Amino acid sequence: MRAPIIAGNWKMNPTTLDEAVALAHAVEAAARVAPSVTAVICPPTIWLADVQRAIGRDGISIGAQTMHFEERGAFTGETSPLMLDGLVQFVILGHSERRLYDGETDERVGRKVASAVAHGLRPIAAVGERAEERRAGETAAVIDRQVRAAVGGLDSLTRTGLVIAYEPVWAIGTGDAASAADAQEVCAQIRQILRAADADAADAIPIQYGGSVTAENAGELFSQPDIDGALVGGASLKPDQFAAILRAAARA
Ligand code: PEP
Repeated sequence: MRAPIIAGNWKMNPTTLDEAVALAHAVEAAARVAPSVTAVICPPTIWLADVQRAIGRDGISIGAQTMHFEERGAFTGETSPLMLDGLVQFVILGHSERRLYDGETDERVGRKVASAVAHGLRPIAAVGERAEERRAGETAAVIDRQVRAAVGGLDSLTRTGLVIAYEPVWAIGTGDAASAADAQEVCAQIRQILRAADADAADAIPIQYGGSVTAENAGELFSQPDIDGALVGGASLKPDQFAAILRAAARA
């Protein structure tokens, strides 16, 4: 009942427009192998309009990597939800790199999620514990706090388009993915938190896993009952690997 969503977070790559458009075309071609899967690319903000023009509106979906919660104002360097309207379907919010380097707090993530929903954008709200929190046995508490904050500004979760991405910080870009069993345990916990917030909507909300997802580990991760796709960093820049991850999602 939950169609998988595979989102590629390109981060600050590639560094030229030509490369960005070429990568978008390559991913678009790769996505044809798995039409039942929602494929999303999240290029840097500066390339969004050109990438959208290049792939057209009927191709793969596009996401932004962040946005501000306000519509307008004195927020140097920021992007308004109004600017994303018509340009993207998804927006990643609360990625751990933004929490770490850009002062993204739980409270701001909650405001951004509410703002995205109010503007018809599907938020991919990223949550996940840091290595030291995991070592201290705090994973469940961190997830509880972050997920509650992320959905705290929403009156209901029904028809919000919300996606949650569980991304243990220690697994991002390290090659050290969570085991399928550990990822499932946390995703099941997230589902319970969503159930407590809105029992009717929780079962329809996709929960992705993110953190060193590859063509090799994707199948086992996607076979877990509460994992509905992935947020992919490094492998999303390699169309062959992204295609293999899409195929694994289609098979699951
Ligand atoms: C990410 O940055 O969201 C991510 C999951 O990266 P990677 O797949 O490279 O670990």
